[in-house]
Amino acid sequence: MTSTPRTYHVKSFGCQMNVYDGERMAELMAGEGMVATDRADDADLVILNTCHIREKATEKVYSDVGRLRKREDGTQPMIAVAGCVAQAEGAEIARRAKVDVVVGPQAYHRLPELVRAAQAGQLALDTDMPVTSKFDVLPTRRKVAPSAFLTVQEGCDKFCTYCVVPYTRGAEVSRPFAAIMDEARALVDAGAKEITLLGQNVNAWTGEDGKGRAVGLDGLIRALDALPGLARIRYTTSHPNDMTDGLIAAHGDVEKLMPFLHLPVQAGNDRVLKAMNRSHSRDSYLRLLDRVRAVRPDVALSGDFIVGFPGESEAEFADTLSIVDSVGYAQAFSFKYSPRPGTPAATMEDQIVANVMDERLQRLQTALARDQFAFNRASVGRRCAVLLERSGKLPGQLLGKSPWLQSVHVIGDAAIGDVVMVDLVDAGPVSLKGALV
Ligand code: SAM
Ligand code: SF4
Repeated sequence: MTSTPRTYHVKSFGCQMNVYDGERMAELMAGEGMVATDRADDADLVILNTCHIREKATEKVYSDVGRLRKREDGTQPMIAVAGCVAQAEGAEIARRAKVDVVVGPQAYHRLPELVRAAQAGQLALDTDMPVTSKFDVLPTRRKVAPSAFLTVQEGCDKFCTYCVVPYTRGAEVSRPFAAIMDEARALVDAGAKEITLLGQNVNAWTGEDGKGRAVGLDGLIRALDALPGLARIRYTTSHPNDMTDGLIAAHGDVEKLMPFLHLPVQAGNDRVLKAMNRSHSRDSYLRLLDRVRAVRPDVALSGDFIVGFPGESEAEFADTLSIVDSVGYAQAFSFKYSPRPGTPAATMEDQIVANVMDERLQRLQTALARDQFAFNRASVGRRCAVLLERSGKLPGQLLGKSPWLQSVHVIGDAAIGDVVMVDLVDAGPVSLKGALV
């Protein structure tokens, strides 16, 4: 029997959806009367909310657990492993790493009872994907940052050949419209000015609005646009195949929808895209971007890229560099291909050797950094609204986001949570300096 934990620490790895889940786990534990600690080393209960998207994630969990077991003061925390590594490894983690609780992404609403079971010395493992949604039983949002996440869709049916998400997060499921609107109102009441709608394929979201009409993500965005007190709406991550006409139109006429689109392409070559099972081509992707730009000329574009997919030749990789050149991304995420157990690409022939992948990633990142800096420099001279999100390092400095999701720092008479008008006066590679108007 372990003693009753009074303090907790949640450490989240990976995507924004994990950040959201981590916040909800923290709310659950706070609801049990437990107190949050800033450091894992000070907590009675440590929840590792893990990511399985790339290699070494599992090893990292084992080494984190090992470190937590060797605290300098000799204390032993209760350790819970949550998230996609928990889902993928299941009982193996409990056995190998001797952790107390293992809980998958669809079952974490059961954390309090699993912690109690662990205290009583029982097996505390739940990696089910239950029919009852965890969202129905999670507590109401009460304390949130000015920019808040709201998960509206989970899972994926796309089965890109490199990706574990369809296996760890399950099939595509949309949360009901009313539940999302309720959570959005609670977030605004708790102080949120901006809501980012989240989903592994957020633009695959579908539901029925308050009048019983079938709507897509654009319908949900339009309903949120009418919410008093909410200043900004964003959404991520989208799949090119789910960019509907309605969603593109929303970029043109929904005032609160920010001029930003994260639309992963992964590669610029059609043979590679086909082998990835992406079901869009280089050309169809570029045409989509043209259509978004036509309705929202100032839209900032972002993407995800994978270098070194099995069989990728130097000429095929050059197509990725050329698509980057033609789009001019405002920011982007780029990764070396990582073989994931159980995915079709992991057993494909012609796996690319590490030094070739390293070199390609470096070239790609140089191009992406060049374009990000160029986008920031081109913003100098613009006047725009900035949502202030936190304090900066300098005295009186505040950090916020421009409509185009650039980090902007200002000094002056304003407070966290304010939306202030700012002149963008100087640009760095990853942030801008603003002057309060
Ligand atoms: N659903 C989104 C899409 O397909 O556009 C992306 C979600 S995924 C969690 C985030 C990113 O991780 C992907 O866009 C891809 O670039 C990257 N990723 C996924 N599996 C990967 C792998 N096996 N190796 C390297 N990067 C990977
Ligand atoms: Fe993974 Fe592809 Fe689904 Fe994105 S669309 S989550 S990359 S399988």
